[in-house]
Amino acid sequence: MKKFIVWFSLVFGFAFIATVGQPTQQVEASEKTYTIATDVTFPPFVYANSNNKYVGIDMELIKAVAKKEGFKVEIKPIGFNAAIQAVQSGQVDGMIAGMSITTERKKTFDFSNPYYSSGIVMAVKKGSKVTSLKQLKGKTVAIKTGTSGADYANSIKKKYGFKTVTFDDSDSVYDDVKTGNAVACFDDSAVLQYGVKTGLGLKIVTKPTDTGNYGFAVRKGHNQVLLNKFNKGLKALKKDGTYAKIIEKYTGKKAVSAQKKSSENSSDSYTMLALLKQNKSAFISGIEETLWLTIVGILFATIFGILIGLLGVVPSKIAQGLSTTIIYIFRGLPLIVLALFIYNGIPSLTGTKVPAFVAGIITLTLNEGAYIGAFVKGGIEAVDSGQMEAARSLGLPFSKSMRKVVLPQGIKIMIPSFVNQFIITLKDTSILSVIGILELTQTGKIIIARNLQGFRIWAIVAVIYLLMITVLTLLSKWIERRIKN
Ligand code: GLN
Repeated sequence: MKKFIVWFSLVFGFAFIATVGQPTQQVEASEKTYTIATDVTFPPFVYANSNNKYVGIDMELIKAVAKKEGFKVEIKPIGFNAAIQAVQSGQVDGMIAGMSITTERKKTFDFSNPYYSSGIVMAVKKGSKVTSLKQLKGKTVAIKTGTSGADYANSIKKKYGFKTVTFDDSDSVYDDVKTGNAVACFDDSAVLQYGVKTGLGLKIVTKPTDTGNYGFAVRKGHNQVLLNKFNKGLKALKKDGTYAKIIEKYTGKKAVSAQKKSSENSSDSYTMLALLKQNKSAFISGIEETLWLTIVGILFATIFGILIGLLGVVPSKIAQGLSTTIIYIFRGLPLIVLALFIYNGIPSLTGTKVPAFVAGIITLTLNEGAYIGAFVKGGIEAVDSGQMEAARSLGLPFSKSMRKVVLPQGIKIMIPSFVNQFIITLKDTSILSVIGILELTQTGKIIIARNLQGFRIWAIVAVIYLLMITVLTLLSKWIERRIKN
């Protein structure tokens, strides 16, 4: 028991240092930092270059505006649909992601002056015989969650008799068309035209429809200062020629042919080893984030779980009921729903931001903690009830009988479940990619969004997870042996 406490305090101390030691961003008093959400892949507006840095028209525009207007930006590449939700819940200050200004969206967003215009087109695989909407009958069409392309497809799908499949990222949409699962996709003309020119492997078969403008967006009625700054900055950039330069830099002949070349040459440089080397720093920071989440998550979940478990065995109906309810709720909720609720749901109600890392830890604590609570309670109950009775009849009070007699036996029963739960926690951190935490899974997604090497990158990510799980298992087994002795 003593050893258990020593170990427990060691882990606790470590995790405490971990939480406190988390790098925080320094904000200068004079320059306000705004968090801006964006898409993951939407070239030429936003995409990660070969160094995994976010570039594109939108990225350069927002940075140039910030420089002109004297503020700082922290970019959150979380994907289009997630960005929409993050703005609505107030988790971020604004978004720039090739976002179309629509009447519907104006009900919930305030938009800047337009900075680009685009319509919606249908694209098919190069060489496909499908060239018109009529040929879509009975077929599947790929669209991207929450976009105007998706709205358009949904508005005509009955008429033309096609089904839709939805993806969160444009590259998954294009991939689905290229592999032949979907016969076509609907997306922005500005993006698809650029894609066709730079070797995406698709062709456009319809004229642009629903043409409109892109704008920088904030939540309606909020962040008006930022919106005004954007408008002022954009105007200045247009006047001094920076705007034209940015557009030329990404859509000009030179840029397009360079991009095309790089996508043609790319397949040779995509061996596993080359991919690992190219993305070394991204992988390392992804691993670090996954480990932080796991360590801090396990720690808090363990504390929470033990408390809930103990609450379930004290001789009080209220305490037991509370324990059962907490376990019921947090074990019952899917982790992804809990994460989205904490990250997007609560802030939209309370108006205060919850940093993604903190939201992630709360999610893990509640969910993994509920499982731990359940087996802690079960472990204690599994100890023969005669033990408690004997201790009590010797005159020991309840808490002492619990500590000295029941718990030491119960803990031995629980240990394998603890080891199991720690491993599950590590794996579950990957689900937190939905709230934009740049852990290993999200890192993989972003790399793939750039180089479209899904098979190889997912294989690398899988191996890294297995390695981490192996280390964690060995460590847990070692601790288990120590406690048992
Ligand atoms: N322009 C489209 C929209 O606003 C798509 C944006 C995107 O996918 N990033 O819905």
